[in-house]
Amino acid sequence: MSATTPDLYGLLGYPLGHTLSPAMHQAALAWAGLPGTYMAMPVPPERLEGAMAGVRAWRLPGMNVTVPHKTAVIPFLDGLTPQARALGAVNTLFWDGDRLLGDNTDYAGFLESLPPALPSDVTVTVLGAGGAARAVVAAMRDRGARAIHLAARNPDQAARLRAELLTGTPGTTLSPDDPALGALFARSDLLINATPVGMDCRSLPPGAEQLALLPATAWVYDLIYNPAETPLLATAHARGLRCQNGLDMLLCQAAAAFERWTGRKPPLSLLREAVGAPERTPPCSAS
Ligand code: NAP
Repeated sequence: MSATTPDLYGLLGYPLGHTLSPAMHQAALAWAGLPGTYMAMPVPPERLEGAMAGVRAWRLPGMNVTVPHKTAVIPFLDGLTPQARALGAVNTLFWDGDRLLGDNTDYAGFLESLPPALPSDVTVTVLGAGGAARAVVAAMRDRGARAIHLAARNPDQAARLRAELLTGTPGTTLSPDDPALGALFARSDLLINATPVGMDCRSLPPGAEQLALLPATAWVYDLIYNPAETPLLATAHARGLRCQNGLDMLLCQAAAAFERWTGRKPPLSLLREAVGAPERTPPCSAS
């Protein structure tokens, strides 16, 4: 790193509220023996251009990007990794020589977070069709899913996702209130919630009322990590289904971003300890 480069890392997003990224990356910097500070940097959309000029002017070595800038940041970059290009979204900025590039580590983070016991040729139903859903369906597609069904309230968004990422993969796209969703649930090995519904500790994602129709051997994966147990996961637990929340994906995508910046991948146990899990992500019943 040149002497003129501040050892400053950070997260660009708006609003940022409470983010776990500074805790994870600060711990990773200490683990790697690198100087530096990782900061939450709230930047409203109208100041993104100025913020990106700052990233270049100071040649900031490692930045993350989150909502609402994941797509808006692309015109300010010199190129994208194949993953970021395919998903049309960036969550990590890194330097390749003098080129500032964008990567998407949600894809690799999700893939790495999947339980090793989950077979590859599963039938999956995904709730939602936003940014996280795009990373999830691309990962499940590449892992060899037999079929990927989408239940999303925005039909245009869902149709775009299928056309851009799932042309060679069988599956149905429908609205979460379509009665036919029950039949898809009955044939699914894995249900993934890629909507924010459940963060309030009260609501089930639309469509999830049909959870009882999932086979007894199914897995339920909620990308939400706070609370640690959403109403969806609580209901699935009560049915005896195998459950996973979004914490491992969060840790895995952070580890992949840190590796992009430094060439060193921090252990997940270190990042897990840094975010204080499970203390900071109590189950809904504890809140
Ligand atoms: P996003 O791009 O805003 O997409 C959200 C999706 O959920 C959209 O399809 C949206 O539909 C749908 N949705 C929102 N509210 C809904 C409601 N009340 N009923 C039905 N559908 C609704 O957000 P995202 O980045 O994909 O994130 C989705 C979730 O994944 C968030 O909870 C986020 O925290 C989580 N996530 C976790 C990780 C991790 O590392 N664990 C990583 C990324 C995201 P509309 O377009 O119609 O609003």
